[in-house]
Amino acid sequence: MAQIKTLTVLGTGVLGSQIAYQAAFSGFEVTAYDVDDQVLEQARARFARLAGIYQAEKVSDAAEGKAEAALKNLRLTADLADAVADADLVIEAVPELLELKRDVYRRLGELAPAKTVFATNSSTLLPSDLKDFTGRPDRFLAIHYANNIWVQNIAEVMGTADTDPAVYDAVVEFARNSGLEPIEIKKEKAGYVLNSLLVPLLNAAAGLLLQGVADPQTIDKTWRIATGAPSGPFQIFDVVGLTTAYNIASASPDAGSQAFAQHLKENYIDQGKLGVATGEGFYKY
Ligand code: NAD
Repeated sequence: MAQIKTLTVLGTGVLGSQIAYQAAFSGFEVTAYDVDDQVLEQARARFARLAGIYQAEKVSDAAEGKAEAALKNLRLTADLADAVADADLVIEAVPELLELKRDVYRRLGELAPAKTVFATNSSTLLPSDLKDFTGRPDRFLAIHYANNIWVQNIAEVMGTADTDPAVYDAVVEFARNSGLEPIEIKKEKAGYVLNSLLVPLLNAAAGLLLQGVADPQTIDKTWRIATGAPSGPFQIFDVVGLTTAYNIASASPDAGSQAFAQHLKENYIDQGKLGVATGEGFYKY
């Protein structure tokens, strides 16, 4: 398995734009694909915004020119065949809809050269849910990034039983070469490592609040002081965004999750308090 040098990212939304920009910033030649030219215009604006953030936050040695120069490593196209013609690796970051992703892999499997490795950034699907639609299960796996990847710079790499170990190793190396800390996951697991730890913590915090055991400030303070963590669960909710928290809670059949969804809607979302992004959530910013 040759070293990965060229990357194509499918989907230029919240995560796809960050994945593409981070790789371009690290010196990779990156092609970003999305459905039409109008969406690509929005992608251009996202990339410019990311360059500003990388420069302002001095990500690694982002001297004046480096964040701006990364933009030159990015090519945008709405033609899928053109996008993948020379890709060593394709990372898929299209919406979290099973049938849509399967359809993307069906088309991709026909268009991409035999050498190309496919990787999904899906947060909630397992790569096994998609592998049979790729036409190349041995060259398919998951690489899962966290939002705000210039700060939360991990990449969880998770294969299926069919993934060729040499392909897995090449993707781990790609993650490292693109400035991320690879997290090697040995067995398929919904939620990877990060969300397998984080989701139960957030659910427990929501339970303590709804049962009237303690308020968010007290719960967060307990977690920070007792574990040394920089943030408590309600501070994390504010960063994730309360709309996302609401969507996840309301999709769960569990009665506690439903009650938490209702609590978020009535006390925060209906009043425009969506977390850090809007300046107020459980806390004011
Ligand atoms: P998003 O809605 O912000 O972006 C999705 C992009 O995909 C849009 O630009 C859309 O135009 C494009 N798209 C739609 N159909 C397409 C198609 N057929 N081919 C190519 N592009 C298409 O979504 P997002 O939040 O970036 O999430 C994308 C993936 O990343 C999901 O699988 C999600 O689980 C995962 N993820 C998201 C986060 C997060 O915090 N948002 C974190 C980790 C992983």
